[in-house]
Amino acid sequence: MDMNNEHEYDFENRILSSSYSVEDTETEFSLRPKTLADYIGQDKAKENLKIYIDAAKKRGEMLDHILIYGPPGLGKTTLSNIIANEMGVNIRVTSGPSIEKQGDLAALLTNLGENDILFIDEIHRLQRSVEEVLYPALEDFSLDIIIGKGPSARSIRLPLNHFTLIGATTRKGQISAPLLTRFGVDLKLDFYTPEQLALIVKRSANLLEVEISEEGASAIASRSRGTPRIANRLLKRVRDFAEVKGDGKITEEIADYALSKLEIDELGLDNVDRKMLETIIKIYDGGPVGLDTLAATVGEEAITLEDVYEPYLMQIGFLSRTPRGRCATKLAYEHLGIPMIQKQKKAIEGQLGLFDESGNAK
Ligand code: ADP
Repeated sequence: MDMNNEHEYDFENRILSSSYSVEDTETEFSLRPKTLADYIGQDKAKENLKIYIDAAKKRGEMLDHILIYGPPGLGKTTLSNIIANEMGVNIRVTSGPSIEKQGDLAALLTNLGENDILFIDEIHRLQRSVEEVLYPALEDFSLDIIIGKGPSARSIRLPLNHFTLIGATTRKGQISAPLLTRFGVDLKLDFYTPEQLALIVKRSANLLEVEISEEGASAIASRSRGTPRIANRLLKRVRDFAEVKGDGKITEEIADYALSKLEIDELGLDNVDRKMLETIIKIYDGGPVGLDTLAATVGEEAITLEDVYEPYLMQIGFLSRTPRGRCATKLAYEHLGIPMIQKQKKAIEGQLGLFDESGNAK
């Protein structure tokens, strides 16, 4: 493998991208935990789920419709498969953009068995017309079909098997209000702590039959941006280095060496994160700068910056969103080793004082 090209990955293949890439297919399936007990972290979501699952099983009913939300790669699909497994039912997996027509959804719904789970990833991207078919299905387990055209058209109601919808989304705010109210259970996934990620790395190393030291696992975990998908991906890259440069065992030294070659710093930031922060600081005086302007200057899509980079930069307190745009914080200046001048200090303090973390005026 040509390691020099590693950091030139495009968005789809970027090593730090928390989005799914083709490369993940080979191992993602085998690394997925299959039971709630194996699913590391997310204690609050797990605790609640366990109660709902036990109660539903006791009553012999299916689960209420569930919405799972959080940034990509945190385990939404994994958790949905676990729910199906724990309930002992089948799961049909699809995604918002792939259901193009009402008929596509009707076909999916009529094929569900009693108590099955329908998993719709990126549910915020469902089309409105498709959503309308979903409402009666979710509420009354029935499908309204229009037969014929013009004045002779009539509507017939087809009964469906009882099913549970699990919707996953990275953008809860974009789900329409009528759809949102039809979910009985709401599960929010948070970024993982380095300790939880270290457990995930060790578990995955075990499954991949790679030897790894505690320190090696911690080194990978602390650079995984709170995201299991990234942790697993870094583990695979570091494994390549361990095989080529060492004896196959992942030590702290090998992990540090590999990650520095991949240009991932000690906080897990890569070239694009740094470029983004440097642009805000050096070109826009620390901000505020509008997302579109920032994206154009950095040379990435606005949606990529918003979905993939910003959540983690905000989580570690390097970036703040204000109604007037993005600002780099004092911590970002410190991390990049750029001194703050008095004017910027004042401006940033002013921004942070006036708005809360989500950018709403206080
Ligand atoms: P999402 O659907 O949120 O994008 P996935 O469910 O596809 O994320 O998770 C990505 C990968 O991360 C999975 O293949 C799985 O191996 C791993 N993973 C996610 N959550 C956990 C967890 N809690 N414990 C262990 N591994 C996890």
